[in-house]
Amino acid sequence: MTSGLPPESPVRGSSEVAIVGGGPAGCAAGIVLARAGVDVAVVDASVFPRDKACGDALSNDSVRLLAELGADEEAARFPHALVERAAAVFPDGTRIERGYGEPGWIIGRRDLDDALRRSFEAAGGRFVQGRRVSDLVRSDGAVVGVEGAGLAWSARVVVAADGYGSVALDPPGPGPARGRWLGVSATEYWRGVSFPFGETTCDHFFEDDLPLGYGWIFPAVAGVSNVGVFLRADAYERQGRRLSDLLDAFLARHADRFRGAERVGRRRAWSLPLAPRPVPVTAPGLLVAGDAAGFVDPFTGEGIWQALRSGIAAGETARDAVRAGGLGPALRERYEAECARAIGAPSRRKAQVQRALDFVLRGRLYRLAPVRAALRIGYRRQSVDHTKSDPAPRARGSARSSGLHA
Ligand SMILES: Cc1cc2nc3c(=O)[nH]c(=O)nc-3n(C[C@H](O)[C@H](O)[C@H](O)COP(=O)(O)OP(=O)(O)OC[C@H]3O[C@@H](n4cnc5c(N)ncnc54)[C@H](O)[C@@H]3O)c2cc1C
Repeated sequence: MTSGLPPESPVRGSSEVAIVGGGPAGCAAGIVLARAGVDVAVVDASVFPRDKACGDALSNDSVRLLAELGADEEAARFPHALVERAAAVFPDGTRIERGYGEPGWIIGRRDLDDALRRSFEAAGGRFVQGRRVSDLVRSDGAVVGVEGAGLAWSARVVVAADGYGSVALDPPGPGPARGRWLGVSATEYWRGVSFPFGETTCDHFFEDDLPLGYGWIFPAVAGVSNVGVFLRADAYERQGRRLSDLLDAFLARHADRFRGAERVGRRRAWSLPLAPRPVPVTAPGLLVAGDAAGFVDPFTGEGIWQALRSGIAAGETARDAVRAGGLGPALRERYEAECARAIGAPSRRKAQVQRALDFVLRGRLYRLAPVRAALRIGYRRQSVDHTKSDPAPRARGSARSSGLHA
């Protein structure tokens, strides 16, 4: 049931599991729970369909997770583009490309997130919209519900999936991510961008004024491309230039791609909490998933895969907690270990890759043939890129399992 409620009407209720936030993490958790027959409600501050500042890129493994959640067909009904290749482009124009075995997607977040919401509701979950959670409700030290203006909801387990600035991290907790644990990004849409190297290639430009970050031009969906810049907040602060100026400079450097193109809509910016920030992702009665837990790839800024992956793990943990009569220490430890293995450890490796690339950029070493050769080998190695499935084409039915299912 969706409540498109007038703002003044109070919402009170209870469910076995309550999820704060209906983005990819919250809906993934919700779908797992609803499919298992658990009484679950998602509470979201927005009214859907709603947009979200994003590059809109789904890695091929994210598409596979969508399929695992049974949401891929619902999502595929919306306009989307296939991504068959990715390129790293250096300041002297050096291009290093790699192919994806299975394609990734570009899909607007208004559409992707609404498809996930619909899949959650189709599985039997309740979606309460237009209600902001301001606090977690605790009893004897355990989270037993959530509350906000016109909202009181009790639950045996709460999943916080409310993105950057989560209520789960509110003081006296660690608070929102900053410095090296934060990415900043600005994005906008352009119609009629040219793609001289192929219309299904995601271009990532590593450039001197985007340290510990990059600019992107992504394949067009119905003629409209997502472009933007991303960089780590500490590097951004050292730069001392506004994000909007960095995006303008990026567009000017690639004016050849935008000749005759027109901007669509407004420019948007938002924060990305980067992994692996050492903050607790569980507490008594509470699991934290997606951006709320700071799970974004520190190198690429990719966070949808991590949101889906941790959302599925949170859903499975909450399901087992309901069956066991509570979220005990063993289940909490299992969730923490799963997140550390699937997201924390590979993110640490990605941060090392980022440092190495920064060294290459600052020293302009990409101009040296042996360095370019090494970059080619490194870029094509999917082992570093945990959110991409291996490049060998796979039959649809043989997609590997996320390994999260009990
Ligand atoms: C500019 C930019 C570009 C990006 N590009 C990409 C990309 O191309 N590919 C990629 O994989 N990732 C990208 N990311 C990261 C990606 O957007 C996030 O990692 C992803 O959205 C995380 O999903 P989530 O479900 O954890 O949180 P969100 O998608 O942020 O969803 C959180 C939900 O919680 C709701 N909410 C928030 N606070 C409350 C509250 N107090 N009470 C109730 N509800 C609440 C919100 O309305 C929202 O629906 C980008 C991020 C940015 C900022």
